[in-house]
Amino acid sequence: MTQPTEPPVFDGHNDVLLRLWKGGAAGAADRFAASDTGHIDLRRARAGGFAGGFFAMFAPPEGAFRMPSFQPPYDEPLPEELPQDRALAAIAGQAGVLLALDRAGALALCRTVAEIEAAMAAGRVAAVMHLEGAEAIDPDLATLDLFHAAGLRSLGPVWSRPTAFGHGVPFRHPSDGDTGPGLTEAGKRLVARCHDLRIVVDTSHLNVAGFEDVAAAGLPLVATHSNAHAVSPGARNLTDAQLRAIGETGGMVGLNFGTMFVNEDGRAASDRGLGPFLRHLDRMIEMAGEDHVGLGSDFDGAPMSSDLADVAALPALRRAMAGHGYPDMLIAKICNGNWLDFLRRYWGG
Ligand SMILES: [Zn+2]
Repeated sequence: MTQPTEPPVFDGHNDVLLRLWKGGAAGAADRFAASDTGHIDLRRARAGGFAGGFFAMFAPPEGAFRMPSFQPPYDEPLPEELPQDRALAAIAGQAGVLLALDRAGALALCRTVAEIEAAMAAGRVAAVMHLEGAEAIDPDLATLDLFHAAGLRSLGPVWSRPTAFGHGVPFRHPSDGDTGPGLTEAGKRLVARCHDLRIVVDTSHLNVAGFEDVAAAGLPLVATHSNAHAVSPGARNLTDAQLRAIGETGGMVGLNFGTMFVNEDGRAASDRGLGPFLRHLDRMIEMAGEDHVGLGSDFDGAPMSSDLADVAALPALRRAMAGHGYPDMLIAKICNGNWLDFLRRYWGG
């Protein structure tokens, strides 16, 4: 069987920078070129037709916190709030890895859609710098300008644990996302400043109140890596009303491949095939509209299905969409067109 690597995938979320940074900045370009571990490297990106996407920077939890087992029902406490100085050290390190990869020609750090399209045409992985959880930003937002100058073009105010800017959803299944207060006053200032700078505001990991605060600020609603609550009723997934709001505001939602967000029962089991992925896409398209749905893999950040184990396996998802009856034009929009059109609208040009 042929291995379809077209249309290329430009995706809403991955955590490869965290993995590379944890392994030590020295040698990161070599490990990005080819690696026996993780979900993304250049060799497998080429094999699967992975053209790039949002590259997250993330300050991992400290201390005794362990990721939950994802054996439902579960309701895990969130990790402690992280002080800005410690978050800043992690995020500066990961920004440094991204800039070094760009300088080495291993990928292209992109600030405009024209740069993304040029990288894709040249066969270079296109990376948009994204900050997952804004702990590294001071409440006066001085560091926001610093990271914007370094290339930051997308940001989530929280990664689940509380920050100076807002509250996120816990690891809870089953649960809706209406789990507490939303953005703080500092969070509302952050969102407004992001809008001025045309930094995408990502609502994945925000709770319902925070999602509504972003809508009230007049921004397009974007969830880079979240799924349909109607299919898998966990706190990280979006209700039909939220998906409709994403479409109505001209925003985007990216399908998260993490098994605990895909599988209907919230289990992190890897053996359920690609049927659940298609059921999420169907629901997301029905509610948000076919111009507002893309991919948001969470590669290198979440457990994957054995049928979609890494970027090299992306042809299996294209084949599944085609087998499910999606026309070529829709598959192209999901794989990259909708993300690029959204960024063109939001960034301009
Ligand atoms: Zn995430």
